[in-house]
This record gives sequence, structure tokens and C-alpha cells, in this order.
Amino acid sequence: MIIQLQPGLAETPIQPLKITAVEPFLLHVPVTGNSVADSMHHLTHWGVAGVVLRTDGGLCGYGYTGTHGHLGSDLLITDCIARVYAPLLLGESIHHVNFVWRKLYHFPPSQWVGRAGITQLALAAVDIALWDLKAKAAGLPLWRLLGGSSPQGIAAYNTDAGWLNLSLEDLVANCRRSVEEHGFKAVKVKVGLPDPRRDIARVEAIRHAVGSDIRIMVDANGRCDLPAALELGRHFDDLDVTWFEEPLWYDDVEGHQRLAQSMRTPIAIGEQLYSLDAFAAFTRANATHYVQPDATRLGGITEWWQVADLARAHRLPVAPHIGDMMQIHLHLALAHASCSILEYIPWTRDCFVEPATITDGQFVSPVMPGAGTTLREDSMARFGVRLAW
Ligand code: MG
Repeated sequence: MIIQLQPGLAETPIQPLKITAVEPFLLHVPVTGNSVADSMHHLTHWGVAGVVLRTDGGLCGYGYTGTHGHLGSDLLITDCIARVYAPLLLGESIHHVNFVWRKLYHFPPSQWVGRAGITQLALAAVDIALWDLKAKAAGLPLWRLLGGSSPQGIAAYNTDAGWLNLSLEDLVANCRRSVEEHGFKAVKVKVGLPDPRRDIARVEAIRHAVGSDIRIMVDANGRCDLPAALELGRHFDDLDVTWFEEPLWYDDVEGHQRLAQSMRTPIAIGEQLYSLDAFAAFTRANATHYVQPDATRLGGITEWWQVADLARAHRLPVAPHIGDMMQIHLHLALAHASCSILEYIPWTRDCFVEPATITDGQFVSPVMPGAGTTLREDSMARFGVRLAW
């Protein structure tokens, strides 16, 4: 049998879609209940620091990273996009995502001061906007462009119920409501109080309230030292905790390795890591069980996908961290074979044309072309912070 291309198919040109304008933006969106806290952070607003890429074909791509809404820090990100990356982007094709990623990442002046932090967060915004454009140009939601097919289904777990600044009564009521009223099958609880016995009491109270069929994740946000983490871990083993997230300082590979050898509860790590290399160090050392890449920190979707593939090669599940408040990671989770669960925090749902949505504890698959990042027309008026150059 001879298989031939249809006449003319090989010559079908790809629409060039060159970038003609780069427009940074910044939103500050209030969090639930005016303020939330974990063991390391306290915030009143979530920052959406991003960029609109306009093209000669008329399509606009939206990308952003997530911040704690501190104006001075956020302006460093939008400044990086405007002053460093914009001149490198103008005239580039939206189809050359990998080439553009490398061009920006390896730009010598910014690599000298970067490879992590501000430059990588800014790169994430640009890369996500490019993937948004690619999906819109294809007329597909990103998860379908990336190979997702029939709904594999993504379960949601609720982080917005378990903040460390909640009283024990409010914490338990929130978790109970998440399960009984909203259908969550999993909740996450923040720990890392000065007295570990209070952390243990809070997790015990939630286990008692939600019963044995509900998953409980626990997150110390890097606060513990090894003895404290070991003490907590021993109790979590008995409370059927699904994972112990960031028990130790974010970059401490050896410490997490030692902890993993000393408790039954699995470890989750990754929301503060900036590169494929950093994830490779943890997986090589068997220092994590759940891999938690965040595209808004990793330099975007391009690097995120490589980290998810790395996890796949080690047969580790990927449970993305959601600096994007789910908009992008819902697409990635639907497309990548290693994802079956995704964090839920609904702070920015009033910002987007197609906000990530759950029904009975499961995410609904997006239908609109793009990466889920297109802002509502009124979002700038409601949440925008004026940028001046
Ligand atoms: Mg976390």
C-alpha cells in the first residue's frame, strides 16, 4: 500500500502570526476572607503579573505569573517583561515557542542576573502567552492541543479551606463544608505552627470531622527542621495523610531524602523550584513522591512539560501547584498522563473569560480556544494596578 500526502497539503503554510506588541499588566485580586496565612506567608491579595502579546494576525495571547501582591516586587516582573524581553519578542513567530524560550532564557545580560526568581517568573508569563496564542491559532483549548482526549477527569482538592490563620473551629467547619456541600474528596491543611502538637491536633480534628474516605494533604511551606518534620511525620503516618508537602526548606534535597527514608507518609515538593535541573536533583535522590511543578514559576509551560515528563520517567504522580489559580494547570493536568488531581483556590475566578470551575469535586474541562488566560474586559477596571514607564 502506498500512502501519499493529499495534493497541496505539504505546501500548506503555517500562518506566520508575528508578535507586534508586548503589553505588561498587573492585577491585585483580594483573597478569601480578606487575608490568608501559611507558616511562611501572609497575604491579602493575589498578584497576577502578566503580559498581552498582540500579533499581526489580530490574535492576542495572555500569560501571567502569580505573586503575593506586593507592588514593588510585582513591578520588577512587569519591568523585566517590558525592558528586557519585549525587544527580544517583537517580530518573532508565535509558532517558535521553544526557540523564543531559549532566546529569552539564554539572553546573556538577563541570564547573568537570572535563571531563577524575577527573570524566570517574567519568562513564564511570556511563554504562557505564546502557548495561549498557539492554542487560539489552532482553534483548540490548550489541553486538546497538547494531546488530551476524552475526559480523563481531574479531581479537585481544596486548599482554600485549610489556612493556618483559621481558628480550629473555622478550620474544621471549612473542611466539613468542602466535603458535604461542595463534593470535595480531598482537602489540604496548612501546618508549621511553633508548637507541632497544635498542628497534630488540627489534623486529627479534621480527620475526625471528614471521616476516613476523604484525603487529607498537609503543607508546612518549608517551615520545619528535620526533628520537627520527623515528629509530625510519625503522627501523619497514623492519620492516613496523603502527602506531607514542603516539610523542609525548599532546596534541601538531602534533608527530604532522609525524611523520606524515615516515615511512611509520602513527600510532595516543587512549588518553589525554578528549573528542570532542580526537579532532577530531587527525583534522583528519591527525595519526593509527588512532583509539584508550577508553570508560573518554571519559566512557563515549556519547562513544566519537561518536568512532568521527568516525573513520568520515575513513575511519580504530578500534582501541580497553581500560581495561576488553576487557569493554565487545568489544561496541563487534562493533557499530561501523570496528573489526576489538581489544587483548588478560587481567588481569581472573576478575572477570566472562562474561569476554572468544579462540579461535585471534579474540574470541568474548558472548551474555549486558548490556555484559559484571556482576561475579562472589566478585570483591569476592577483589579488593575497602573503601570507607568
Ligand atoms: Mg504548598
